[in-house]
Amino acid sequence: MIGNTAIANYLKFSGHKNIDLKAALIDCDGILYDSMKNHTRAWVKLMKKNGIKCTRDEFYLYEGMTGAAIIKHMFKKGAGKNITDDEAWELYKVKGRYFKELGDIPVMPGALAMLQTLQQNGIERILVTGSREPSVLERIDNDFPGLFAEERVTAHDTRHGKPNPEPYLKGIAKAQAKPNQCIVIENAPLGVQAGHTAGCFTVGITTGPINEKELLKAGADIVFPSMEAFVTALPELISDFKNTLT
Ligand code: MG
Repeated sequence: MIGNTAIANYLKFSGHKNIDLKAALIDCDGILYDSMKNHTRAWVKLMKKNGIKCTRDEFYLYEGMTGAAIIKHMFKKGAGKNITDDEAWELYKVKGRYFKELGDIPVMPGALAMLQTLQQNGIERILVTGSREPSVLERIDNDFPGLFAEERVTAHDTRHGKPNPEPYLKGIAKAQAKPNQCIVIENAPLGVQAGHTAGCFTVGITTGPINEKELLKAGADIVFPSMEAFVTALPELISDFKNTLT
């Protein structure tokens, strides 16, 4: 019942007849890890060192873009400077150092239970992140052992960051599925937009300062106020998806 209105709207606008759920395409920062606070702190430090004015909040809105795209955007906006991709990726390494210096990031409360619930229901779990942050990517197998498919999508596999649908289209291909056989689980507006544009039923979860309205505006089919709220609702949502097949 919990997802019926959202599912009806999704089917109406996507033109699909049902949701035959096979795989969940799962974002990393702000979904598996409570990492966005440290990412935004590291971004602000990098910009201040380069004389570029910014606020922490704006980096929550850029979440999902590639590191180089964010840096190029900020240098253009804040200093009127066009910098090359190579220069941007060099600066991204500095941001990565600042991020690491801020210490270990906690697993998002509820993330493990979410993955276990999906697994118990026979739904494949595929990581889809715009990140290439090694300190995070290397932790996934330790923190969530056996819960992710080996096939995953990171910044190393994609040319375009979110909101381009490419990362989620690659996730759909890795799942050997169709858009209506995958759900996207996201916390950021640009990530939600990417999942929606890829044609998947997109779940938004507010785990930071961005509110529900922003995620709905970006195309989320349903929004939950926390990972715990999503985990509680997940069995019912899965059963609502199954009901579209009958
Ligand atoms: Mg995220």
